[in-house]
Amino acid sequence: MRMCALVLALMTIAADLQGQVTKQPFGKTPEGTPVDVYTLKNGALEARIITYGGIVISLKVPDKSGKSADVVLGYDSLDGYLAKGPYFGAIIGRYGNRIAGGKFTLDGKTYSIPPNDGPNALHGGPRGFDKVVWKAKQIPHGIELSHVSPDGDQGFPGTLSAVVRYTLSGKDLKIEYSATTDKNTALNLTNHSYFNLAGQGNGDILKHQVKLNAGRFTPVNDVLIPIGELATVEGTPFDFRKSTAVGARINDDNEQLRRGKGYDHNWVLDSGAGKLAEAAEVYEPTTGRVMQVWTDQPGVQFYTGNFLDGTITGKDRKVYRQRSALCLETQHFPDSPNHPNFPSTELTPGQKYHSVTIYRFSSR
Ligand code: BGC
Repeated sequence: MRMCALVLALMTIAADLQGQVTKQPFGKTPEGTPVDVYTLKNGALEARIITYGGIVISLKVPDKSGKSADVVLGYDSLDGYLAKGPYFGAIIGRYGNRIAGGKFTLDGKTYSIPPNDGPNALHGGPRGFDKVVWKAKQIPHGIELSHVSPDGDQGFPGTLSAVVRYTLSGKDLKIEYSATTDKNTALNLTNHSYFNLAGQGNGDILKHQVKLNAGRFTPVNDVLIPIGELATVEGTPFDFRKSTAVGARINDDNEQLRRGKGYDHNWVLDSGAGKLAEAAEVYEPTTGRVMQVWTDQPGVQFYTGNFLDGTITGKDRKVYRQRSALCLETQHFPDSPNHPNFPSTELTPGQKYHSVTIYRFSSR
């Protein structure tokens, strides 16, 4: 009997060390495709991810007293995501952020992505990776999602095979992106989680303190396309090299802030591309929650939920108003295919795209 209890206890410990992954149905798309939700558990952390859009629909994180809260915005059911989504929690592809006029030229040929944000293509066009049902399988500590985007999908050249792995281990939600193509193409993958470390729906993020390890950012024109310059943050409201409250300067008299209706810009990370380094840290003073963002990407889009306007009622009947969350989308710079001076987003056959971003949670 005692032996049995011991074996059971050891099995439980082993399961905890492995992290636990479970799967349940989460409804169907209008075309009848079933969608599943995977729950990843590791100690006090819990992430729920659906196969539609690879969306992180909830992320439970303890505060400094051990009290857990869901720190990402979203909906209670699939219908919400199908009806209206400012990309809550989703995988973004093929191209994160904007492409000017939806057009770019590669090898002398012009490609057109249907505009879905004024004159521009945003987040991969009208039916991006946030709106497809990904194939899923369990892996240790998480799930592996895969999707094949056909040649010409949303105007992009090449058949693109994308794989995104979400794992929860230690204090980390890790996202690992891989992809291959059969024709030269442009690629910029990210995740669009909207964080509120005080708990989703719990006020605005103006008192969150943000640090960005970036001495430069890419200023934008009036439709949020980079003008091509890598401008210094020195002496501007864009200097987050020392941890600063989001609200401290967000309403400053500044042309770039007016254009973005707040922060909605790409920061040029000091670490450069290709090596995993800390890009950002967010600290929420009332709960003590801390989120560090690590990436090997050259940029991060810091977006302060400026376009949320109270018309969305999300999880637990919470109304999402302007600035009720912030996004830190690790990425290559917006509109890179039209800026030869930006790090290249070209992917060629034979190359393997691989990128890692980690959201690391703690409290103090
Ligand atoms: C963009 C914003 C946009 C938001 C939601 C961000 O990545 O920079 O301008 O409103 O995504 O679509």
